[in-house]
Amino acid sequence: SAFVGNLIGEDHVNYVLMYNMLTGIRIGVSRCQAKMKRPLTPEDFTAKHKYSFDIVGNELTPSARYDFKFKDYAPWVFRELREDYFHLDPADYLLSLTAKYILSELGSPGKSGSFFYFSRDYRFIIKTIHHAEHKYLRSILKDYHAHIKNNPHTLMSRFYGLHRVKLPRGRKIHFVIMNNLFPPHRDIHETYDLKGSAVGREYPEEKAKVNPKATLKDLNWFHRGRMFELGPEKRALFGEQLRRDRDFLCHIGVMDYSLLIGIHNMERGNKDNIREGQLSVFQPNVNTAMRRKPSSIKGGSEAAAMRKAVRRSDPKALTSAVAELPTSDSADRRHFLFYQDEGGLRATDEANDAMDIIYYLGVIDILTPYNTTKKLEHLWRSLTEKDRHMVSCVPPDEYGERFLAFLISFFRDADVTKRPRMELKTK
Ligand code: ATP
Ligand code: CA
Ligand code: CA
Repeated sequence: SAFVGNLIGEDHVNYVLMYNMLTGIRIGVSRCQAKMKRPLTPEDFTAKHKYSFDIVGNELTPSARYDFKFKDYAPWVFRELREDYFHLDPADYLLSLTAKYILSELGSPGKSGSFFYFSRDYRFIIKTIHHAEHKYLRSILKDYHAHIKNNPHTLMSRFYGLHRVKLPRGRKIHFVIMNNLFPPHRDIHETYDLKGSAVGREYPEEKAKVNPKATLKDLNWFHRGRMFELGPEKRALFGEQLRRDRDFLCHIGVMDYSLLIGIHNMERGNKDNIREGQLSVFQPNVNTAMRRKPSSIKGGSEAAAMRKAVRRSDPKALTSAVAELPTSDSADRRHFLFYQDEGGLRATDEANDAMDIIYYLGVIDILTPYNTTKKLEHLWRSLTEKDRHMVSCVPPDEYGERFLAFLISFFRDADVTKRPRMELKTK
């Protein structure tokens, strides 16, 4: 669930990095934002703007607490994406991302070593990415921009910015800012990360029993008998958008992406977090504080709480007022077909009437090109695995084919006899 994480205060190991990231974003974004909007030029896609921060400050950058360098990539492109296609309010964006002390860290949930940070309102995720992923995103930015423009309802990750921080001793950290699929105001009762592959795609069920917040995988989805509970209308729309996004991902030659699904059961509601008290030891009261005062942080008072939070320099002084989370979905989501029911996609029956389940879903981790390393892995695996089509690393076309076939086979109207063979591979 989105609520698992540690708040980052001055005593946190990644505090300086976090401070530098947020300071860079604030200066970079507001500098671009201060100019008159203009149509994009081809150069905008390759542009990079450099900033050098130090304690003294200069005419370009105000003084900062640490020395570091910051690069803002294709700022005009991301500005257009944010404003025209992702429907973000520029002031909101900056406000959410620049409140120091109140970001939280999910740590490094994947195998890749990337770190994830949430903005204080849980709307945005900062993901550190590898240099190769960074270069790759820059190389496909034009295609990505075009796909977003033509697919306002895309299920793919919405990238809001691409940046780099360079620390004095030379360490370079690349990161993207993207949408958090999971909402701040609804518990996620089950999470799945589906790739359409069977190999290594099972989270041990015994472990899942003691760790209900774990991200489950393809075989868990199958064994638990999960389906996409969508009536004819939503099924058609969802299937069509998945197909379009899949086509795009094949076209740009990536693989290893997945459909992340959070399931909220409306009958179960939001009780679990309070009862289980599952927040980290560092900030045990974030979630319960929010539940106790559900209406106190809307509109203007939210901004006021933010300002108060920013002014406050002692992280230990974080109070429930600061830690409170929004109690409804953010306005931008209403523009998107698959995020407009309480920020997600509500299940429907065969008469297209609403059911008591909300899906929060999207295609994530879309920056892994099928490069030489992956090809080698594929070759090696194909010699050792009985059915090479079952391994997760296959060429992009095959990956996309299998990904979509797997997902669609869990639609209610699917012909299960045509389900990919993975189900036979179960123990
Ligand atoms: P790997 O390459 O090993 O899969 P990674 O570091 O690239 O790992 P991702 O696959 O992008 O990481 O994400 C890991 C987990 O982080 C996901 O399974 C999910 O739990 C969470 N996560 C990632 N992106 C989002 C998002 N946009 N919204 C909500 N949660 C997310
Ligand atoms: Ca992944
Ligand atoms: Ca990855």
